[in-house]
Amino acid sequence: MDYMPWWSEKNRKFADEMEAFVDSELVPLAMKLEEENKDPMAIQWQASKKCIEHGFHPLMVLTEEKYGGSEQGYTGYTILNEETGRCLLNINPLLTSVFGAGPVLLFGTDAQKEEFLAPMVKGEKWASIAVTEPDAGNDVAGLQLHAEKDGDEWILNGWKRFITLAPLSDYLMLYANTDPQMKHIHRHLTAFIVPRRSKGITIEKINRLAGRVEMANSVVRFRDVRVPEKCMILEPGDGWMVMTSALNIERLGLAGVIGQGRVLQEIARAYAKRRVQFGMPISHYQNIQLRMAEIKMRLETARATIYYLADLLDKGEVDMFEFGVKSAAAKIYCTQSLAEIGQHAAYICAGDGYTHEFGIYGILENAMLMQVAGGSNDVLKIFIGRNEFIKDIDERLLPRALRGVTKEEIENLNES
Ligand SMILES: Cc1cc2nc3c(=O)[nH]c(=O)nc-3n(C[C@H](O)[C@H](O)[C@H](O)COP(=O)(O)OP(=O)(O)OC[C@H]3O[C@@H](n4cnc5c(N)ncnc54)[C@H](O)[C@@H]3O)c2cc1C
Repeated sequence: MDYMPWWSEKNRKFADEMEAFVDSELVPLAMKLEEENKDPMAIQWQASKKCIEHGFHPLMVLTEEKYGGSEQGYTGYTILNEETGRCLLNINPLLTSVFGAGPVLLFGTDAQKEEFLAPMVKGEKWASIAVTEPDAGNDVAGLQLHAEKDGDEWILNGWKRFITLAPLSDYLMLYANTDPQMKHIHRHLTAFIVPRRSKGITIEKINRLAGRVEMANSVVRFRDVRVPEKCMILEPGDGWMVMTSALNIERLGLAGVIGQGRVLQEIARAYAKRRVQFGMPISHYQNIQLRMAEIKMRLETARATIYYLADLLDKGEVDMFEFGVKSAAAKIYCTQSLAEIGQHAAYICAGDGYTHEFGIYGILENAMLMQVAGGSNDVLKIFIGRNEFIKDIDERLLPRALRGVTKEEIENLNES
């Protein structure tokens, strides 16, 4: 694996271990499961359990040692995402659990980390992230699942949809509307980690998803579900801040999908060097070289971006609002790049590329999903663009014609 020049010895050692694990364990497992034609659900659990056995649960990597983690930081998390990406094994339960446990990891009390996080790090428990509702997709401020205080409990009513692995999870990390009057200042939401088997929760699997991945994607209904106070993350009204912070981890994780781009690059390179048409390998033709250049440029830029962001988080050198913009930009760039790399690879491999054996179209499907999940790319772009107009103008960068006139300049003008 190519190290980033700024990686510490610890980062490099972890990258070597991860690479060896993927080569010796995950790649053979992927091949075996493919040959056995196992069903997609069995594959993702087997792959996830293999990762946990060897200490490569992304949640473990992010968590402090005292809760069973290995403290490899966001750089370790990104290395893990990139490396697992290259063997194309679906480790959805692990990723879903990171997104589900993210708020506890970031803001949980010691008691919450002990109770909820530690068993998840060991792979004994699992969490789903439950944000989306029938009328609230990208518009997450419009969540309607309602929570009302009753003594030292909260009562939940409403529903969520598109919740990955909901029937198999032990916890649902969710956001509920606890004070609609406070929406104008984003103090209307509260975060809860809710035991999935709580009385009043029902789960239905309604849709069959496109693609070859089974996610047990479900609708979850809440009818008078009683949740103890200890399941609340931070305070009532802090939900928006919790959600936007946790989404940064999620988006950095989604951006790590660019690891699959390396697979596409190698498929396209190998194919172009070996496929002979009109008397020479197609790699000799400039249109193929141009496409390879696009693949390389995208990959290099995407990798540098995600590891730079991981390093910022590890060093704690970020303003979280500014980081939100950066992580949204990285998620857009990496997921869009994966789709573009996939199209170049498919074009280079032409008819063979369209076969199941090459796997290119499976990655393309995944790239399409990643552009929607964790906030649609278009909506994230609007967020970034709008933010650009909130910031002050840097007058130093403007041509004379666009600069405002200074007081001194007016005085000089009057004097002359
Ligand atoms: C396979 C799968 C797994 C998922 N897993 C989970 C999960 O585990 N947990 C969870 O909470 N959610 C999950 N989701 C939901 C996912 O996060 C949402 O689909 C995503 O946030 C987009 O919401 P939406 O589909 O409701 O689209 P909408 O918000 O309805 O958007 C529809 C279209 O309108 C556009 N649009 C919307 N608002 C604006 C605007 N203001 N300006 C311009 N354009 C706009 C969007 O870009 C999009 O093109 C999953 C979805 C899928 C498909």
